[in-house]
Amino acid sequence: SVVNEMPRTMLTAAQLAEIDRRVLVHPHHHGGRSKRITIVRGDGCTVWDASGVELLDVMGAGNWVAQVGHGRPELADAAARQMRKLAYYTGFDIFANDQSITLAQRLVDLAPDGLDRVFFTNGGSESVETAFKFARLYHHHRGEPERVWFISRNFAYHGCTYASGAATGFPGIHEGIGPEFPNVARVSPPHSYRAPDTCPGRDLTDFLIEELATTIERIGPSNVAAMIGEPVMGGAGVLIPPADYWPRVRELLSRHGILLIADEIVTGFGRTGAWYDSAERGMQADLVTVAKGLTSGYAPLGAVLMSDAIAETIAGGDTYLFHGHTYSGHAAACAVAHANLDLLEQEGLVDRSRTVGTWLREALAPLADLPNVGEVRVAGATAGVELVADRDTREPLMADWVTVALRDEHRVAAREYGNTLVMAPPLVISRPEVDRAAQALADVLRRRPASHS
Ligand code: PMP
Repeated sequence: SVVNEMPRTMLTAAQLAEIDRRVLVHPHHHGGRSKRITIVRGDGCTVWDASGVELLDVMGAGNWVAQVGHGRPELADAAARQMRKLAYYTGFDIFANDQSITLAQRLVDLAPDGLDRVFFTNGGSESVETAFKFARLYHHHRGEPERVWFISRNFAYHGCTYASGAATGFPGIHEGIGPEFPNVARVSPPHSYRAPDTCPGRDLTDFLIEELATTIERIGPSNVAAMIGEPVMGGAGVLIPPADYWPRVRELLSRHGILLIADEIVTGFGRTGAWYDSAERGMQADLVTVAKGLTSGYAPLGAVLMSDAIAETIAGGDTYLFHGHTYSGHAAACAVAHANLDLLEQEGLVDRSRTVGTWLREALAPLADLPNVGEVRVAGATAGVELVADRDTREPLMADWVTVALRDEHRVAAREYGNTLVMAPPLVISRPEVDRAAQALADVLRRRPASHS
């Protein structure tokens, strides 16, 4: 093949795209799309494709990642230094490495009270998978093995593996892969813009709490292991719950001995303006899953934080915890996470996320007058612009064409989730870059193509 005939670094953009189409199976990919984009370099909030085209990355490397921006030598150096010293050694049983030990301590120090122990994984789905197993194990060891049910929410995204995929609330992810991981029930998301359809004339939180209570009663309160939820729902289109939602959910779950898992894979490490968003929203979670912003994407790494009580129950005394990944606590990945946390701290990026939120709010405000914009939602350095075909009926308008126009006409890389256009830029983004992205979006929406009128 051409790859063997010439140095890999000399392949043209067209050659890379051709090889890509032939051999690479893309994750989360629409098979009908033959266009390929090969990203080869990044610096700050800019990335370049193989033919030298420059894109403004307002989606954190396309995936709510890249908190500290692209091309940071501090993280590259941390990886190289650690790999020269020790890249990896097992963390099973009595072994660990210095990086994973000190990173665990650091995550606990930053975490809300009551989260005192850390288990490392390779990413988000594995963290959710782990949290589910730990929740069941906890109840099992405490003599309540019948607690096997999980509650999640429609349009939640929790991953694509067996259990995390079952908890994910997008209909398509469940098709054709059954029999699925069983015992997952889903309730409505806290979507205030769509509340008039869901619960006309009622307080949204009242409705959601009643629905959750009914669901728990239907399953049987003593059969439920845990509820999982993103503090702010990312993939659902940046849904920010009412202030009383999580405290009331927490209270209801506690009354029935049900654990709460906060999925902070998107929200953690500054995305919404806090180290852990669940703390800001009164979740008081028993388990917290993190990934993405933990390393800004420079190395694959995830973690589950939990209370002492859970850790002691599932892995204390004579108990053998039969769960672990080869790369749990990978030394080089943990060193990268340390360097990433150093930058977040030294550059005040968690606070800066709130400032980016102010810029996003100001820059996106003019969009509210456009006929196809239903609602603009901002939580720190992330924004969702929900599109509608008609503002009166709130009929959703799919946003895929907006992503394409932003990219091809304005060189801005955002992302759509159904009818919501999402931005989640690196926290180092500048005000002019925010303004450029917002103006590009306004321009695309003003010149709505005929095919979508
Ligand atoms: N939870 C949330 C909230 C996510 O957004 C994602 C990924 N987008 C995941 C879990 C799954 O993480 P991963 O893709 O790393 O497996």
